[in-house]
Amino acid sequence: MGYDDTNIFAKILRGEIPCHRVYEDADTLAFMDVMPQSPGHLLVIPKTPSRNILDADAAVLSKTIPVVQKLAKAAKEAFDADGITVTQFNEQAAGQTVYHLHFHIIPRYEGAGLKPHSGGMEDNAVLAANAKKVVDALGS
Ligand code: AMP
Repeated sequence: MGYDDTNIFAKILRGEIPCHRVYEDADTLAFMDVMPQSPGHLLVIPKTPSRNILDADAAVLSKTIPVVQKLAKAAKEAFDADGITVTQFNEQAAGQTVYHLHFHIIPRYEGAGLKPHSGGMEDNAVLAANAKKVVDALGS
């Protein structure tokens, strides 16, 4: 199966639909997940198209992972988290629902579980406020 540029993250990259952006550089974009499994759940995507890690160019991954680390640190600080879970799903059998490579960054707390993957939509104002917290943490 190849890359289909009608996926929702391709539309975000083309500016066709909005997102709560927290970070962008020449190669990478990061934005809030609209169905967070924990407050502050965000996504990091390379701009170069690939379905997932299985067809990604290693050179693209080498630019993406430092951004994943940067956002993981920022999210930990912004949401005063005890830890950060980084997840990444490849193909339907593994739980992938959007077929543009992305890394989930999910703040975690001692003893607290997660909401379901692709569960309920978060309020827009909450997402905007959480995005600002990440942006502020990146700037500090
Ligand atoms: P995955 O199952 O790894 O493909 O996860 C896709 C993620 O994208 C899920 O966590 C969804 O909540 C999230 N998602 C879907 N549509 C959007 C959107 N328009 N903006 C931000 N996140 C989205």
